[in-house]
Amino acid sequence: MPRPSDLIDYALWPALLVASCFGMSVGMASNHGPLAFNVTYLCLAVALYFLEKFHPHEEAWLESDGQELPDLSHTLLTKIGVQVTVVSLTNFGITQQFTGRTGGGWWPATWPVWTQVALGLVVAEFGLYWAHRVAHEWLPLWKFHAVHHSSRKLWFFNTGRFHFVDTLKSMLFATPVLVLAGAPGEVITWVSGITAFIGILTHCNVRMRFGWLNFVFNTPGLHRWHHSMDLREGNKNYGENLVLWDQLFGTYYDDSRRRPPAKIGIREAMPATFIGQIVAPFTWKRYQAKAAAEAAATEAASRSPGDSPSSAR
Ligand SMILES: [Zn+2]
Ligand SMILES: [Zn+2]
Repeated sequence: MPRPSDLIDYALWPALLVASCFGMSVGMASNHGPLAFNVTYLCLAVALYFLEKFHPHEEAWLESDGQELPDLSHTLLTKIGVQVTVVSLTNFGITQQFTGRTGGGWWPATWPVWTQVALGLVVAEFGLYWAHRVAHEWLPLWKFHAVHHSSRKLWFFNTGRFHFVDTLKSMLFATPVLVLAGAPGEVITWVSGITAFIGILTHCNVRMRFGWLNFVFNTPGLHRWHHSMDLREGNKNYGENLVLWDQLFGTYYDDSRRRPPAKIGIREAMPATFIGQIVAPFTWKRYQAKAAAEAAATEAASRSPGDSPSSAR
């Protein structure tokens, strides 16, 4: 029989997601969708901050990794970049060319909104899945996605730690699929909101249990495997919201007998500063060679202290 604390752990993820969707639905009903989304997202972030402190999944991840400033800078740059892109597309009338139309006539605009949102999540996920998978399996894009994976810990704060090129690439893959399918603006807003809520939940360092949810949604439990340094686990679970396409394309991974690794990150080097992380993907080969040479020199110095300049003095 499950203990009461287990029940709380099982209830946390769905309760936080449902509460966030409720907050957004109230705002959408009163025509304040964007404001309601931002307020709800902020409330969710505050709730996760306290839950991480008092109910953490991995104690070691409570320690600072010194990456708060780069994490925040990437989040802000990405957010500004996305807003500018959306506003420019709107100004140039590109989105109006497509939204509101029933692209090809197959979008079931007469279905209840929630079923359209469910369909929207599945359709958008196809784009999100391939955008993410190609970023792991194709080096020119991995260099940018490596910024996200260079985190040594997972917590709500580094949800937005993405190189802006990486974010633009994901947008190019996902949103047009929905727009071209003729999904109404309301459905696109809902899919974007749910993607943001699931995204921050996915990275949180809160002790939770998931049960059957792991077969449907991209939960923190599944995403912790995705951040593993062992590529047999790390090159899996590409879904952003749903794991349907992972299951169909054979990249679904879970192992309920073990805990996902606490030691996460990438095998390559990554600068510690925000500017360094923005530049590194563009100078990847040179940067990796330099970092490898420096690491080799440090290791050699530590192995033979008699040869080091400091002990020679
Ligand atoms: Zn990834
Ligand atoms: Zn992640």
